[in-house]
Order: sequence, then structure tokens, then C-alpha cells
Amino acid sequence: MKPKPVQAAMAKHLIVISYDAFSEDNWEMASRMPNLSKLMKGGAHSNRLRSVYPTLTYVVHTTIATGVYPDKHGVHHNNPFQPFVKEEQQSWFWFRNAIKVPTIYDAVREHRMNTAAILWPVSGKSSIRYNIPEIRAINNENQALKVLRSGSPLYCLQMEMKHRRVRQGIKQPYLDDFTTKCAVDTIKRKKPNLLMMHLIDLDDAKHVYGTDSDEVKQVIERMDNRLGDIMQAVDDAGMKNDTIFLVLGDHGQFNVRYKVHLNNLLQEKGLIFEENGEMRWRAYFQCGGGSAYLHIQPGDRQAEQIALAAVEDYMKDDSTGIESVYGREALDRLHVDQSTRVMLEAKIGYCFDESLEEPTIVDLEEQGVRYATHGYSPEKSDYRCNLVVSGDKIKKDYNIGDIEMVDIAPTMAKILGIEFNPCDGRALDDIFMD
Ligand SMILES: [Zn+2]
Repeated sequence: MKPKPVQAAMAKHLIVISYDAFSEDNWEMASRMPNLSKLMKGGAHSNRLRSVYPTLTYVVHTTIATGVYPDKHGVHHNNPFQPFVKEEQQSWFWFRNAIKVPTIYDAVREHRMNTAAILWPVSGKSSIRYNIPEIRAINNENQALKVLRSGSPLYCLQMEMKHRRVRQGIKQPYLDDFTTKCAVDTIKRKKPNLLMMHLIDLDDAKHVYGTDSDEVKQVIERMDNRLGDIMQAVDDAGMKNDTIFLVLGDHGQFNVRYKVHLNNLLQEKGLIFEENGEMRWRAYFQCGGGSAYLHIQPGDRQAEQIALAAVEDYMKDDSTGIESVYGREALDRLHVDQSTRVMLEAKIGYCFDESLEEPTIVDLEEQGVRYATHGYSPEKSDYRCNLVVSGDKIKKDYNIGDIEMVDIAPTMAKILGIEFNPCDGRALDDIFMD
């Protein structure tokens, strides 16, 4: 039997567009762009959307899709813990089964509504009807085949055949152009009740060129053009009066001058070592840009003490880049899983890296390298994200103010008129017209 809706739907269609790394520092420029400003005038908006910790794409997107903090949903990082594996060879949390709680797209499907997702993180092998999951081939795997196996095969094949000439592997801006083409096509032909898409151009440009670069400004223009294509598709499909758009960012980025290779500290203390030609660890930092998890072998309290003493000693010099050592009290406040006992937070201008093959501190500016990253605490200043929710039943040009990432999923449920419980957040009731 079809579950009953708990309330009248606010719209028949909801289009969620995640602009990766769309943060408050982009608000002024983005809100002057023709298409986003049109959505803003016809809807509610905020540049005070607080993300979750650590501010990594897969962690945050899982919160967007579930309405709960990472300690409940279980996706604690982009990558499962893989000590000594180079970053480009690591597997990611690509599949739905990494998420321990219900997702909004499962709930929508249970209500017999049509779901679609393009490049949505952690959605591989999920219930989504039309799904091209975000997945990257590693270790000589075939990219197209891997996507096909993890998504909806026929749909992936159709989209690939029709739009592949736009794509050049996973290079930008071509990948986001491909995603947009697929979204336009899917809106017109499948008329999904829920479409979730993930555009990555902005995040890429910030990482490579810095947060305030001309390249970032060019991306913001491209993003608005893509948004315009999607709005046009909704119009062409005759869905305009029954569609709500939800555009949001997952985290900001900060420019980085120094890379800190934290595992060097542990290696110096013998907690990372070679044995019979193999690397071993008693303690290991899993780094995520602005933050790092301290992993300890089960029960090895001595290793934890040595590691913490090494960190404390290192922090005596003010220029070493560690801002805070978070124990359980801070981690409870930040909703980090109980199995984690210690995390480190980097100062602005610094980030953490797992590699053991570099000096402990590397000055990127000295090397002429521009770089920015994320992963920092959402409590840092100037680090909020943007949100625009727009459609017929949404208040016009309404500033929502302070909101939380866990509020997004319950708001999506309210828009589509379905039950979705329990969430850590609340539906943004005040954005709807009476
Ligand atoms: Zn991201």
C-alpha cells in the first residue's frame, strides 16, 4: 500500500542543485547573476547555512540527504580509513549502504514518486530510479563501466550515448556541462518528483586557484548559465508552476599556505613504522584538509598518550598550524561518532595531509603553488554556505537567516508532502506562504 502523505505537498517536483563549495564569500557576486537572482526574488534565501563537521563533501551531502549529523549517518569522511594508501588510489564512500539511516530519496521512492540523481555523492547502488552516481575509477578500473554497474544501467547508458561528447573524463568544466545536459534531458523526459544533482566546478576551481581568484568568478558565471538551462528545461516541460528549486552549497573553502604532514610526528615517535618490509601503525592521522581524525589501534592507550604528547610538544611552536585538539566534549558538540576520541583542527592558512614522504611543514607559497581546501569546523567564521529555495508557494525575497544543514532534508520532505522522521533538524516552516 502506498504510504499516506502527512501533509499537502507544496510542489509536485523538487529540484535540488548542490553547488559544491558555494559559500557566503560567493554570495554577493552570485546573487547578482541573472538566474540565481530570479530564484531569490521568487523565493527564500540565506547565506547563513551552517554545515556539519568535518566539512567534507560526502559527510555533508549525506547530512543533506538524511537530516541527521554524521554521528548518526555514519559517513565520517569522503573516504573509509585506508592507512598508507595514496589519496588518488583510495576508494570513497561511493555506495548507499555506507549510510546507516533512511534517506530522503528512499522515502520519496516509498511514496511511489519518481526519483533521479546525477553525480549525487554516496548514492551508488541505491533505490534512486534514474541514477548516475558519483564514482571514480581507481586502479585501472573502467570509468563508464563502474558508473553503469553502480547506477541505473539503462539510464546511464542512454545519457552516456546522448551526451558523452560533452564530457572529457571527469575534467571541468566539461563534467558539470555533462551533468547539466543529463539534468535537462531527465527533467523533460522523466519529469522526476525529486531530482538531486551535484555540480563540482566551483569546488575544483577553489582548490586549484584559491578562493578569490578570477577563475572562481568565471565558474560562478558558468554555474548561473547551467542554472538557467535547468530553469528553462522545467519551463519547457510545463512543470514551472509545480516545481520548487533548492540550490545550496555544502561548505566553504579557505586559502592554504602551509601543508602540515601530521603523520611525520607519529613516525618520529615510532608509532608508524616498518616491519618485515610492510608499513604498520599504532596511531595514524586520517586527514581531511582542515581537520584530522586520530586513529589508534583498539585498546592501545599508550599509543594515544604518546601521540597526544607529540602533538602537544609540536604545538608549543605557534607557527605549526594546529588550532585545537578536540577531545570528546568538543566532538559531542560537533556530533562526531563516539568511536572517535581525538581530532585536530587546523588554523586558517594551514591544512593537514597524510603523506609520509614530505617534510612536516611545506610552504606552498614558496613553491609558487596556489591552493585552498575545506574540512574545517563549521564553527569557524566566514565559513557559512548559501541556500535558495524558490517556487510558487515560497515567500518572495525572504531572508531566512541562521539555519543548519540538518534542516534541509525535513524541508525537502515538507515540500513533497511526505513523512520523513526522525531528523536532527527541523523543516524551515517559515519559508512557506500561509
Ligand atoms: Zn564539497
